[in-house]
Parts: sequence; structure tokens; C-alpha cells
Amino acid sequence: MDNINKFKKPTNINLVFGFIITISIIIIVIIWYGLSNFKNTASEISNLSSKIIVLENKLASTTEDLNTNIQKSNATLSDTLKQNVGNIEQKLGAYSQEVGSYTDTVTTLQKLSKTDPQLLVKYSKVFFLNENYAPARLTEIPNEYKYSDSKVLKLNTQVWPYVKKMIDDAKKAGINIYAFSAYRSFNEQQALKGQYSVTYGAGSANSFSADQGYSEHQLGTTLDFMTQGLNGNLDGFENTKAYQWLSDNAFRYGFIMSYPKNNKFYVFEPWHWRFVGVELAIDLHNKKINFYDMDQRAIDEYLVSIFD
Ligand SMILES: [Zn+2]
Repeated sequence: MDNINKFKKPTNINLVFGFIITISIIIIVIIWYGLSNFKNTASEISNLSSKIIVLENKLASTTEDLNTNIQKSNATLSDTLKQNVGNIEQKLGAYSQEVGSYTDTVTTLQKLSKTDPQLLVKYSKVFFLNENYAPARLTEIPNEYKYSDSKVLKLNTQVWPYVKKMIDDAKKAGINIYAFSAYRSFNEQQALKGQYSVTYGAGSANSFSADQGYSEHQLGTTLDFMTQGLNGNLDGFENTKAYQWLSDNAFRYGFIMSYPKNNKFYVFEPWHWRFVGVELAIDLHNKKINFYDMDQRAIDEYLVSIFD
């Protein structure tokens, strides 16, 4: 029995030892295999990581390039747009200026087409207004503005407001001014000239009002004024306050004295006032020029603004 046990014991130990060795070898193999696999995986991960980093870098630099390009493009685009907008604005400015000047021209032409071209014409002993001429519209002057109630006086409708304002303002200043004569038709003028000729003889009649005021009264823009204290006699008008007031103020209402004292062409008529528009009347007053001394072409420049 002991022998058997003695024999069997070493056998068991050997078996156990062998088993342990085998297991150990297996474990070592497994560990080695695992380690080498792990090593491979780790290196693969490391490779991948570095690839990712490279890609990320590339992406970052590409993004940066892209951003720079976008910024550049934006700047270029914005510059181009600005330039284009600037060009368009400049063109629009030029167009609107052109349109503006066309509009001005059209307005001027429209105004001129509605303005009677005769209103600023210089008439002389040899150049008369056509006998068929009559103002487009006439307004009857109210009694309170006339020297005589019995006489009907008419005036160019567009001129009447200027006269009314002038007479009203003179009255406020304590000066009485009345309309004594206004529009006279060709036939009325002929009759008046006849009277003068009968009274003074044809030679002297030709040298005064019947001739020189002839066309201006036919225009309907011209009046002879009267004031109190003269018994309806125009001859003393020169020495009245009314004449003084008109000399100082009539230009503000667009009126000029057609035949002032010492003028080169005609007999002095202090009562005879013609409407030429405020602008021209002021210029004549300031420059101390007589209407009949002015060049007709220079006068015509004022036609467009005669009723401004
Ligand atoms: Zn007159």
C-alpha cells in the first residue's frame, strides 16, 4: 500500500505540475497574443489619431482659407457694389438735373405761352399796337377806386389786383389816388386824339398823350391817376402828394412811369403809369433806367415773371 501510495504521489504531483505548466503556457500565450493585438490596435488608434489631427488641421486651414476668400470676395463685392451704386447715383443725379432743367424750360414755356407777349413791348410814335388788339380779359374798376363814378373804367384782369393793392396802401399812408383813365380801345383812342387835335391843333396833339400813351392804354395795363384838389385837371398832378407817393412806391407794385421828366423821347406825363411786373419795375428803379431806354430784348427777359 505504502509503495503504491509512494508511486502514486509523485505521479499526481507530476500531473498537477504539468497541468499548471500547461495552463501557464496557455495563459502566457493568451496574454502575449492579447498584448500583441493590443499593441497593433494601439498603433492603429495612434495612426488614426494622427490622421484625424492632419485632417483637422487641413480642415482648419481650409476653413481659414475659405473665410479669407469669403472676406476678400465680400470686400471686392462690396467695393464693386459701392462703385456701381455710386455710378448709378451719379447718373441719377445727372438725369434728375437734366429733368429739372427740362421741367424748368417747360414751365417757362408754359408760362410764356399763357402770357400776352404785347404786355412788355415798347411802343413809339412809329410802332403802334395792332388796332384789333384787345386784352383777353378785362375787369371793371369799382367806383371807390375811380375819380368819377360816371365813367366806366376797365383794366386787364391780371393787373387789377396790383392796382388795388397800390391804391389801398397809398390810402393807408393818407394819400388818395384814383383811377382817372384805364383801358382805352382803338376807337376810343381815335376819338380822344380827335378831341386833342380839335383843341390844340394836329401838330401839338401828336406830341402828347393821344399819341404816346396810345398803345399802352389799349393794352389794358396802363392807367392815368388823379387825386383830389385838381378838379380833374391832370396838369397839376406833378406837384401832388399822390405823384410823390407813386414816384417813391409804385415800382413795388410793378408800375413804372412810361414818360418821366427829361426822358429822351416823350413829353413828361407824371399821371401815366404802366404795369411791367414787380421784377422789372424794381430793376428799373434800382438802376435808375427808363423803360423806353432799355433794349427790347432785355425787357423780354422779364415777360415770364411779369405776374410773379
Ligand atoms: Zn395815359
